[in-house]
Parts: sequence; C-alpha cells; structure tokens
Amino acid sequence: APAASTQPFTAEVGRVLEIVINSLYKEREIFLRELISNASDACDKLRYEAIAEPSLLAGDAELKITIAPDAKAGTIAITDTGIGMDRQDLIDNLGTIARSGTARFLEAAGQAGKADLRLIGQFGVGFYAAFMVADKVSVTTRKAGTTTGHLWESDGKTGYTISPLETEVPRGTRIVLHLKEDAKEFLDSWKIRGIIRTYSDHIAVPILLEEQKESKEEPSETEKGPEQINEGSALWTRPRSEISEEQYREFYHHVAHSFDEPFARVHFTAEGTLAYTGLLFVPSQKPFDLYDPKRRHGVKLYVKRVFITDDLAELLPRYLRFVSGIVDSEDLQLNVSRETLQHGPVVTRMRKVLTKRVIDELGKKAALTASENAATPTEGEEKAEQTETVSYESWWTDFGAILKEGLYEDQENRKKLLELARFKSTHGSGLTTLEQYVQRMKEGQESIFYISGESAEALRTHPQLEEANAKGVEVLLMDDPVDEFWLGEVNEYEGKSFKSLTKGEADLSKVAESEPEKKEEEATPGEDLDRLVARLKLGLGEAVKDVRISKRLRDSAVCLVAEEHGLDMRLERLLKQHRE
Ligand code: ADP
Ligand code: MG
Repeated sequence: APAASTQPFTAEVGRVLEIVINSLYKEREIFLRELISNASDACDKLRYEAIAEPSLLAGDAELKITIAPDAKAGTIAITDTGIGMDRQDLIDNLGTIARSGTARFLEAAGQAGKADLRLIGQFGVGFYAAFMVADKVSVTTRKAGTTTGHLWESDGKTGYTISPLETEVPRGTRIVLHLKEDAKEFLDSWKIRGIIRTYSDHIAVPILLEEQKESKEEPSETEKGPEQINEGSALWTRPRSEISEEQYREFYHHVAHSFDEPFARVHFTAEGTLAYTGLLFVPSQKPFDLYDPKRRHGVKLYVKRVFITDDLAELLPRYLRFVSGIVDSEDLQLNVSRETLQHGPVVTRMRKVLTKRVIDELGKKAALTASENAATPTEGEEKAEQTETVSYESWWTDFGAILKEGLYEDQENRKKLLELARFKSTHGSGLTTLEQYVQRMKEGQESIFYISGESAEALRTHPQLEEANAKGVEVLLMDDPVDEFWLGEVNEYEGKSFKSLTKGEADLSKVAESEPEKKEEEATPGEDLDRLVARLKLGLGEAVKDVRISKRLRDSAVCLVAEEHGLDMRLERLLKQHRE
C-alpha cells in the first residue's frame, strides 16, 4: 500500500485542537468519558443495525468496551466491538468535515477566554478530548460488514493520516493514546477504575479493565481475565431505590452531554396496555443550541433495551426540547420503521404521558420554591463549581420563553402552563404568578392588563402605564418576543381576559380610583381640544389612523395606541422586521 500522506485538518477543527492541546484544564480525565461514550454509541449503532442484518455481528456477537493501559509503552487503549468506521467515516468524523457544533464550540471558547472543556461533548467534538492527554492518537478500525481495516493517526497538530491495513483487524474500533509525559497518571489502573465508576457506571455495555500482565518470569496464578468495572446494565431498568443521585446525575451528563446539575427528573414505568420506562431530565443551565433547527433531539428511544433512534421529534412537544433522557418501550417491534413511529399511536400516547409527567414535575418544583421562598443564587466566580440547586424563578428566567411556546401550541396543557408561567409586573421587582395577580386585582377590574415591549425596564416608565399606576392597577410587563404569539391565542386565565394597554381602549374606567382625583376628570373636553384634534389630524394626515382624546394619561401629553382589533404595536414591529 502507498505510504499515507498527511492530510490537514480543516481550519475549524485545527482551532478546536489548538484549544484542547493548550488548555490547562485540570479535569483532563473527561477524555475517558468521551471515548467510552463514543464506544458505547458505536455498540448501540451496531446492535440496532444488526436487527435488520444479523450477519453484521458475525464472528463476534459480544458487544463490549475494553480499557487497557500499558505502562511500558506509555499508552492507554480503548477498544470496542461496535460498528467501526470505514475510510470515508474516518475522514468525515475525525478530521475534515466541520460538524455543526465545531463553530459553536469555538464561539463559546472565544467568549469565555478559555473553553469549558467539560462541555466538549455537547458540541459534538468529544473525540478531540483525547488530545488533552495524548500527543499522538492511533485509531485502528474496521466497519461491520466490511473486510478492510484502516489506521488513522494524528499528533493533533500537523494533520492526520489514513492508511488501509493488510493484516486482519477485528470489527470495531481501537483507539490508542500515546500519553503525554505529564499524563502518565492515567496508566494507573486504580485511577482508571475510579474514573469509570464516576463517569461511566451507567453505560449499558460491559466495560472491562485489562490489567497489565505481570512479567513472564513470575509463574503467575491462573491467568486472570479482564475485570468488568461497571454494572453494564441499563440504569433505567434498575429499581429507583438502588440508584444514587450521583448515578442519575452522571447518566444525565451522558445523555445530555452537559455538565450541570439536573433541575428536575422523572423516572417511571408505565404498565398495562402500553408498557414502557421513561427517564427524563430537565437541565438547570440552558443548552447553547435551543434555537438551532438542526439541534439533536434530547430523548432517545429504546425498544427492550436496544437503542433505536435519537431523532424522533414526536416523543415530546417542541416547547420541551430542552428535556433529555430515554424512553424504553416493551411493546414496539425491534425492527419498527420510522413511519410507524412517527404517526403511530404508541408514540402519540407516550408523548402525552411524558409531557404530563414533565409538566407536573415542574409544577412540583415551582410549588417547592414558592414555599421555601428560595433566593436566586448569586453567580459564582467559577460557573463550573456551581452545583447548588437553582430556584424555580431563576430556572424560569432561562427557560420560560421556550415553555411559553406551549401556551399557543398545546391547548391541552395550557392551564397547567399558565400556572407554571412567571411574569414581571409593576407590582414590585420580582416575578409573579397569574394566581397572585388575580388575587391582587382591584374591585371592578375584569381583565389582566399587560404591556409589551423590548425590555421590562423600559416598559416600567411607559406613558401608557400612567392611568393604571394612578389607579393602583397592576400591569404585567411582557418582554419576550414569544409573548406576542401566545397572547394572541390565549384569551383568558380563570375567566379573566388578557388586555393590552397599547391596544385600543383598555378599559380601566370600571376600576375605582385609589386616590380621588375627581377634579381632573370633571374637566370636560372643550372646544379648544376639538380644535387641537382637528389640527393634529390635518398635520399628521396618513401617518395615523385617528387622533383621540384620552383619559388614560396623567403626566404625558400624548401616546401612540394600536387599534383594538388590530395587531399589537410590538407584534407589528416584529412582523415588519421579518419582512425587511
Ligand atoms: P459525537 O460523539 O458527539 O458525535 P465525537 O467527536 O465524540 O462527537 O465523535 C465524532 C464521531 O466520530 C462520532 O459521531 C462517530 O461517528 C465517530 N466515532 C468516534 N468514536 C467512534 C467509535 N469508537 N466507533 C465508531 N465511530 C466513532
Ligand atoms: Mg462523542
């Protein structure tokens, strides 16, 4: 075979590698988590493909991951019997094609000055974590169903080589890390054991540690086989009482590729006509790509412990797209087709239950915070160390805008979502629930008043609040762009309609004045005012639809108002921006 020539990495991959190689990041052990996670994915993929094509497993049906340190050579090898890669896979996955997360990773790294490398997996570039500890990485791999193996090698700096191998290569992938001088600690089998226990215990494939063979002279006891470190069973199948918080957390980190404390969790088994297990997590920190249409879906579907797909958008509504986890069905066929899933009754029913479970769990969180009246945690110096629990209010501040999409998409759960919602208001500086708002409503007040705009701070001094303020009527300050959409759809909460102060005649006249200011009201518009209105109409011409005398202002002379049945002003501006 011709000697492989060195191919350069794409510019973006090169920059990711530069950051990884030069990082002084202390928790370098995450490299093992990322490589084990890839090995486990590879086993999952093969198990799935072998359902339709059992011959793919030929020769070696056992799916497993082996970790083998070699002190003499100064290497650690991670081997899996999974799907493997052919030449094109190697090119696409380990070097040239910039994956969608690469640019994002660089962006995030640039902003922070230094990258939070624990998040590397979330950006889809976890493989490169290998270069935190290695100055050379060799990947030997053979794809299931093919005969030729390939060797991919790189120092992470100058580029990579790929060459076909003439010798027989076992199916799957073997990654050998040539450890840097200062990373030899990862040769220690106790250290490796500890890392696997911490990060990878929930991996459903057995992880074996291959201890180094003692020197040949010693007539060692009967050859000890590699030792299995993890439990090797799917975490969600174990009884809840036997799963520790740490195990749940690590599993969440694995499925979500993130590193925060899960904010909420549901783990349940549905029995009866439809049997399945669900284990879902709500993050406490906002994933970076919630508005990316190409974002991977957070919930993986398994059938009888076999991974089927992580690309089934139908498992949860879009407004819960920050949720991650697994659903494992007992009833679906292993060879179920995408069409069956997408439009099938099983997924529809699971979606309904999963949605309800998540919303109810969030409701519990909200009630808990309300009773504790927990303070918002101050932002710690080091975000990484932040493991404190987040209050519901501060969680809402990050995720509320997404949950609000459900207010117009999901009529069935609208009431519960309205109860989960928190709003800024003219009543104090904190957040309020609608229930609290209704309790504070004035005598004669029939509607929930709101005003919408770009920022709550700017809204607080809006001239259209003057009458409401004078009457002591509370007004909600809507500053999420999504508010325009759901407010157009949702007519009421507990029989109280939502009314915009910037739209037509928001009727505050039925609300009693808190302080008598009768004198001003008695002043009836006279001829002077009529003349002023006529002149304004003439002067403004087409620019306005009408000029009217208003009672809603106290200190300001004029204000702009949208038509009662027309679009709200802010929505109008939004739509205009889109058209431009
Ligand atoms: P991610 O796992 O998020 O896709 P990685 O950088 O960790 O990102 O891995 C990139 C890709 O390389 C994987 O998606 C997979 O296609 C391939 N890959 C990595 N390790 C293995 C492996 N052990 N076996 C098969 N394919 C692998
Ligand atoms: Mg990965």
